[in-house]
Amino acid sequence: MTEVQTHQGSCHCGAVAYEVDTDLQGLIECNCSHCYRKGLVLNFVAPDAFRLKAGEGALSTHTFNTHNIQHRFCETCGVQAFAEGKTPSGHPMIAVNIRTLTDIEPFDWKAERIDGRSF
Ligand SMILES: [Zn+2]
Repeated sequence: MTEVQTHQGSCHCGAVAYEVDTDLQGLIECNCSHCYRKGLVLNFVAPDAFRLKAGEGALSTHTFNTHNIQHRFCETCGVQAFAEGKTPSGHPMIAVNIRTLTDIEPFDWKAERIDGRSF
């Protein structure tokens, strides 16, 4: 899986649906207090590679620490499909939780574990 493809994703109840253009490279799992609890597996993409297709009104937002990242989750089923934030250089980015992609095999991906807890 090294070429950029358009993938479909959703929350568990289906209220939130999106598509994302990604090669599924550079995935990370993080041990920070937030990512670890939610089991997020993140793929960082530019905003123009991400399209929310349904559910803007179904989303709530969680922030913590510096509040630089808006963690968006479904109010009904609680699943976080993505977050909105900025790269260290200030560019907008989307962090997609690839566990919410519906068109790839579960565990048919490799993620690097990073020590976010120590950042
Ligand atoms: Zn939902």
